[in-house]
Amino acid sequence: MLNDQVALVTGGSRGIGRAAALALAGAGAKVAVNYQSSRAKAQAVCAEIEAMGREAVCLGADVAKSDEVDEMVKEVLTRFGRLDILINNAGVVRDSLLIRMKDEDWDQVLDTNLKGAFNCLRACARPMMKQRAGRIVNVSSVVGLTGNPGQLNYAASKAGLVGLTKSAAKELASRGILVNAVAPGYIETDMTDSLDSRAREALAENIPVKRIGNPKDVANLILFLAGSESAYITGQVIAVDGGLAM
Ligand code: NAP
Repeated sequence: MLNDQVALVTGGSRGIGRAAALALAGAGAKVAVNYQSSRAKAQAVCAEIEAMGREAVCLGADVAKSDEVDEMVKEVLTRFGRLDILINNAGVVRDSLLIRMKDEDWDQVLDTNLKGAFNCLRACARPMMKQRAGRIVNVSSVVGLTGNPGQLNYAASKAGLVGLTKSAAKELASRGILVNAVAPGYIETDMTDSLDSRAREALAENIPVKRIGNPKDVANLILFLAGSESAYITGQVIAVDGGLAM
């Protein structure tokens, strides 16, 4: 149980982040739900958490901007007085083949997915170091481990998260802070809703467990890594992909 622990979930308004925020709240945590533009959706997640009898706060911030992240973490500390769990989940895709990829496609994906995680990690490490305890879960992707044509920017950002995770794990372990990454495969969310039903079926056929994942599949692992049962695990990257990237 995470009773009275405080979690910050970036990109908590939709998809995997929403499922993680609800799972953490379900286990007893107070949750700060970050969003960039979907204020109403983030408010709906907070309302669901409050309906469970837990505290929640909605915080708008662009994770790519360190001043907005610092302000957001300050607000979490003002509101709840501590910060125990960071879920670095916010992410975007801007897919295109290498020779057509624009500078801004590269910059936006790297700035959000990798620099955004760094900004949040740096801002949250300070209060966690003072508490001499903390859990950080970075949401990478199997694409960061295997590569994917048309996703050079995204795969590079997600591979970067692997190095960030392992380095932070080594640097922060002696302060009682554990840092791990989850690497989802193909998960049903807004990010992946462009495929038609035939493409979806073909994709599922290639996954050993024969189905596309859902946000809860990933949230279950995030919850485990945020809780006391994972106290001897750090610096790991764990796939949640139905066997896709074996
Ligand atoms: P999603 O449904 O598109 O949701 C993305 C979330 O990130 C939204 O809450 C969005 O906020 C937030 N976000 C985007 N840019 C942001 C920024 N600059 N600052 C703050 N928040 C920002 O995506 P998802 O599928 O749940 O993906 C969540 C994470 O899992 C991402 O890191 C993604 O790369 C990773 N992942 C997903 C899959 C998959 O198959 N779906 C597979 C592997 C890894 P707004 O709602 O305000 O826009």
